[in-house]
Amino acid sequence: MTALLELEDVACHFRVPGGLVRAVDGVSLQVQKGETYALVGESGCGKSTLAKTILRLHPLVAGTIRFDGEDVAAMRGADAKRYRSRVQAVFQDPYSSLNPRLRVRTILAEPLRAHGVARADIAPRVDRVLGLVGLPASSATLYPHEFSGGQRQRIAIARALILEPDLVVLDEPISALDVSIRAQILSLLEKLQQELGLTYLLIAHDLALVEYAADKVAVMYLGEIVETGPVEPLFEAPKHPYTQTLLAAVPHPDPTAPRASADIRGEVASALTPPSGCRFHPRCPSCLPICNQHAPKTVTVAPTHTVACHLHD
Ligand code: SF4
Repeated sequence: MTALLELEDVACHFRVPGGLVRAVDGVSLQVQKGETYALVGESGCGKSTLAKTILRLHPLVAGTIRFDGEDVAAMRGADAKRYRSRVQAVFQDPYSSLNPRLRVRTILAEPLRAHGVARADIAPRVDRVLGLVGLPASSATLYPHEFSGGQRQRIAIARALILEPDLVVLDEPISALDVSIRAQILSLLEKLQQELGLTYLLIAHDLALVEYAADKVAVMYLGEIVETGPVEPLFEAPKHPYTQTLLAAVPHPDPTAPRASADIRGEVASALTPPSGCRFHPRCPSCLPICNQHAPKTVTVAPTHTVACHLHD
């Protein structure tokens, strides 16, 4: 398979009055065409900042982001515009991401106009994308507040798809929705991926969602990736104590099924003053004497399964 998105040592830092926030620090990963790659971790781990850096909404401080082999930071003019059409996003709250003063037709037509699509092609493309997300063409005349939460998320998905992207960043796409409609949106996303050959980068804190929807996962802690791999083997036998802790907290349909368990201590430290050595060491139940002095290297423990922990290096 070909990597559609490649990140190498990506960093995203912010200067604030108290110092430098290292929100993302040295992240490397590869997303292959057609797969769903999940970034998972607690709130504040840097996953949404990383997504925004990929979307060029945050500046890249260090490292390289390549999309389809091209350096994203070096893109200018027409190349940057083409990148913005090929990489789209769906955010958590559809209500705040849709302009309430515009009709759906205008919301969906805006990106087409901005990208120079011929006037005669706009209405048919709006109708087609509404059909793709399961909404009638008559929806185009309504305003966002005239829809339910699930329908609004369908409109947000339609807007992400109107430019026929290759990669869609799904930032917590169902967490603001009623539980009763989450499954509908998930199956819509699955159907669209199959029909359109989309690649998804899924940002989530919910491991049950990742287990259901993703092919591969990267677990983030305080701006760093601590474990990556295909979802099934990684969830069956997580190697990093942080991943084990996260998974132990996920309710499982079969309570007798073996699950890793671990205790976690304290709160996530600040990305302003991350702990020395392994950033997880103040909370780790398996902490070794070396852990507060030296950051662990990332090692491969099985084909495509990597972990950054002194227990494995
Ligand atoms: Fe725990 Fe040490 Fe592994 Fe960090 S490197 S997760 S502190 S055992």
